[in-house]
Amino acid sequence: MNPSCEVFCAGNAVVDVLARPVDGLAAPGASQRLEEVALGPGGNGVNTAMALARLGVRVALAAPVGEDRLGEILRQSVGAEGVDASNVISFKEARTSVSMVLVDSSGERRLLHFRGANAHFSARHLNWDLVKGARIFHYASAFALPSFDGAPLTETVVRAKQLGCLISMNPCWDSSGRWLPLIEPALAYVDYFYPNLDEGRQLTGETEPRTIADRLHRVGVKTVIVKLGSAGCYVDGAEGAFICPGFEVRAVDTTGAGDCFAAAFLAAICRGNSLAESARFANAAGALATLGMGGGDSAPTRSRVLEFLATSGDRVIG
Ligand code: ADP
Repeated sequence: MNPSCEVFCAGNAVVDVLARPVDGLAAPGASQRLEEVALGPGGNGVNTAMALARLGVRVALAAPVGEDRLGEILRQSVGAEGVDASNVISFKEARTSVSMVLVDSSGERRLLHFRGANAHFSARHLNWDLVKGARIFHYASAFALPSFDGAPLTETVVRAKQLGCLISMNPCWDSSGRWLPLIEPALAYVDYFYPNLDEGRQLTGETEPRTIADRLHRVGVKTVIVKLGSAGCYVDGAEGAFICPGFEVRAVDTTGAGDCFAAAFLAAICRGNSLAESARFANAAGALATLGMGGGDSAPTRSRVLEFLATSGDRVIG
């Protein structure tokens, strides 16, 4: 076992510029006021690695940035949380990726995205010495890193599996619209897979969590976890199938909730918890992540999640 990392997390890295509330855009030439803006670490790889570190998991991040000031901000943000950032690669030829996140009054968001360095990051940039010995290989950005899509992703997870890792994968929205065929061969090696309901529907053509999970099991996924927003999640794996209800909170911004959820699920699995216990812990962490603006910055610590679980009951937090 490599003492430096329990989870090796590969994924995209983005600087998020958040603005709220944005319920519509002013006409050209006009301006509109915001109540809150923030600049912070984002991208599924960065969000997940930061959340894992706050939840007490030793984590290494493999992710791409540009050789620029925003790249430095991301490197410092993850390093400050104790994430091993030695496999964060700076690309000379590309700028750090940026998302303008427009959050509406209900907490839902719209993204304006600049892909930047994420387009340059491929399987050959992964540090396999770090993967070796990690308990879990988590791929945080299916569909968001174009050089991984298709055969390279399958080769990556096969190699991680051969090194003894459990494989965990979180999908993103596939803006190319190709969905399942792009990742299907890789899914045969995946132990934990976390689509949200919309992603599950796009991937499978099914509408219900149960039928989505059935379809994903047929391509080889071991445990399917369908994220259901405020309703919690649906889990279908070795312990059977069940809904784990969500916690009622006053959500401010759901950016990064899904990444935090996956990180918390893995953190609980690493501690030997059952799927049901892990789902409850993940729902609590996901709910807490919606209380603050931003992705990586809004992830709760392990003690905050435990305190929340001990005290929340039916009380609305926020
Ligand atoms: P994604 O961010 O990937 O779209 P979800 O929006 O379903 O995924 O959020 C992931 C998880 O975070 C949910 O399964 C749930 O546990 C928690 N969560 C998200 N939004 C809320 C909310 N409004 N209230 C309570 N929990 C939430």
